[in-house]
Amino acid sequence: RNHKRVVDCRSDIDRMNAPFLAIYESLVPTEEEKSKQKQLLTSLEKLVNKEWPTAQLYLYGSCANSFGVSKSDIDVCLALEEPDINKSEILLKLADILQADNLENVQALTRARVPIVKLMDPVTGISCDICINNVLAVVNTKLLHDYAQIDDRLRQLAFIVKHWAKSRGVNVTYQGTLSSYAYVLMCIHFLQQRKPAILPCLQGMEATYVVTVDDIECAYFDQVQHLRDFGARNKERIAALVWAFFDYWAYRHDYANGVISVRTGSIISKRAKDWTRRIGNDRHLICIEDPFEISHDLGRVVDKYSIKTLREEFERAANIMHLDPDPCVTLFEPY
Ligand code: ATP
Ligand code: MG
Repeated sequence: RNHKRVVDCRSDIDRMNAPFLAIYESLVPTEEEKSKQKQLLTSLEKLVNKEWPTAQLYLYGSCANSFGVSKSDIDVCLALEEPDINKSEILLKLADILQADNLENVQALTRARVPIVKLMDPVTGISCDICINNVLAVVNTKLLHDYAQIDDRLRQLAFIVKHWAKSRGVNVTYQGTLSSYAYVLMCIHFLQQRKPAILPCLQGMEATYVVTVDDIECAYFDQVQHLRDFGARNKERIAALVWAFFDYWAYRHDYANGVISVRTGSIISKRAKDWTRRIGNDRHLICIEDPFEISHDLGRVVDKYSIKTLREEFERAANIMHLDPDPCVTLFEPY
């Protein structure tokens, strides 16, 4: 690969801010949609509590991390106190209860990596996945949500990147491309390493929020209302950031040696993590460390074919941002 080149400033890049912001605005869910989600959660809570009176329901994923686009499914976690529960049994029972209450398309997927019950609520039209005791996902949802409060540019960038990934077919984990969660972490990392930085490293600061989940201590500074000026010295706006983001993943990131780590706010080495060899199905072709489950590489789904697709898509996007007269259209053209 001989694609390294200096980004010369496309002089009209700031002309693209308004159209990119318009795309962002068009993706943000309406208040009406948000309230329908809450309404569904409340009615699910009532149903669940009839059977499990002390159980709690938590929203997680994009409906709660502030990176949810309009018309997304909602992700719900059922938290049960009892130890030694049989998740499959509970999921099957839950599916029966939901079915009896006229929810549609109820399906228990007990063999999935994260076992869930799927359903569709005919009243609100919202689809929903319910998992059990996946508390780590609730905590990483809060971390993402807290990062989003610090600088508006994160949410703008992540919405555009997610929209691009869906349009280009590179947001499909079972086909070896990356999850939405991985893309948001890539956005956070990118804004942490910008000079001047647009985002801090919350896990590197004094911990004001500490929980232990599945023997993993999750600790970080969550008083983010005090960090609203953090990125003020950096004046870059959305169009320039979208360009720099794709340029970073196309031409600057060291895929051979680097691991992106939101936890440390930096790049760490594959060698330090012992992620240099293929072990089982983990090939570590693009390495994205989970902020809490640090032995977990979110790039593990990527294989030798899909890494090529991904990198070609990053290059395509960077080149469009560099040269195309109408990047806000071309970038999102269906593949
Ligand atoms: P989308 O808008 O595409 O649904 P999402 O953020 O809800 O985006 P999902 O893939 O539905 O993404 O994942 C839901 C949540 O589950 C994530 O926000 C994250 O909290 C958690 N999660 C997903 N994948 C992983 C993973 N590989 N490791 C740890 N947590 C994950
Ligand atoms: Mg989701």
